[in-house]
Amino acid sequence: RAKQKGRNAWECFTSDINDEVNERMALRNDLQEAIEAENFELHYQPLLGARSGQVVGFEALVRWKHPIKGYLSPALFIPLAEDTGQIGAISEWVLRQACRDMCRLAAEGYGHFRVSVNLSPLQFRRANFLGNLQQVLQETGLSADYLELELTEGILMTDTAAAIETLHCLRDMGVEVSIDDFGTGFSSLSYLKQLPIGKIKIDRSFVCDVTTNRHDSAIVQGIISMAHHLGLIVVAEGIEQAQQRDFLAAHGCDVFQGFFFARPMPLEKLQDYLKQRAAVLGQMADTTTPVD
Ligand code: C2E
Ligand code: MG
Ligand code: MG
Ligand code: MG
Repeated sequence: RAKQKGRNAWECFTSDINDEVNERMALRNDLQEAIEAENFELHYQPLLGARSGQVVGFEALVRWKHPIKGYLSPALFIPLAEDTGQIGAISEWVLRQACRDMCRLAAEGYGHFRVSVNLSPLQFRRANFLGNLQQVLQETGLSADYLELELTEGILMTDTAAAIETLHCLRDMGVEVSIDDFGTGFSSLSYLKQLPIGKIKIDRSFVCDVTTNRHDSAIVQGIISMAHHLGLIVVAEGIEQAQQRDFLAAHGCDVFQGFFFARPMPLEKLQDYLKQRAAVLGQMADTTTPVD
């Protein structure tokens, strides 16, 4: 009986693995079709100046428009795409589309905004990464000042010397670089001083409990103070509550991002959002003009 039970368990186990392998293969094939059909969409999440309240830029976040499953989150397919190498094609699409969209916003009178694009480790290490980047900027007509690249600590931890060289080239080009998900890597803080970067983004996991957990609140205060001493701009991601915003503002955080302010949205929605804000600001300007 025990033997039979064991065998059943084994059968279950292997069939689970088969399911998983099949699922991944299916997803990989679907992803290949998506790449060829460009079935992706960029959603943009506003970044706001902590003191000015102004929109200072957007983070571009990719979604896969799956024919059956609907919008799929990058958390579901970016890791797979990194394993299969499909990330290269997706990244290039993302970069080009983000640059195009910013040019379009400017051309249609919404204003000039900086766009932050997430970079995958594979993309950053590609031999012709900088050349490709130059080419995309040239083809789309976006000025390098309006592009920011978000890198994770992990990207910089492997082959640090080469990474630093690439960062210097980016700085010379005028492209801003920020460290994403800051605080989640195992790196020492001292490495920051050697990096030609402008910003860090405090990871959402610290922001989440910043008002309720004294460790998180200490970590966040420490990160902000250290970053400012190094001359870096501090962005907080994942702000969902007014209390979190207030805490971060009180401790000098420079830029806010989170559902509390705005969710990531497709370009048309972003245009509505910008129109609405312009209208509100216009009204406020009207009421502050002296009436005699
Ligand atoms: P990330 O770069 O740290 O992006 C922030 C993530 O937090 C986004 O998830 C965003 O929707 C979410 N978020 C923002 N504010 C809040 C909030 O207040 N509450 C909560 N709960 N979440 C918030 P998303 O869009 O699912 O992206 C997940 C990750 O996928 C990104 O994390 C990034 O690492 C990766 N990713 C997204 N787009 C790209 C891309 O084009 N290329 C690459 N290589 N990775 C990407
Ligand atoms: Mg990011
Ligand atoms: Mg982030
Ligand atoms: Mg994050």
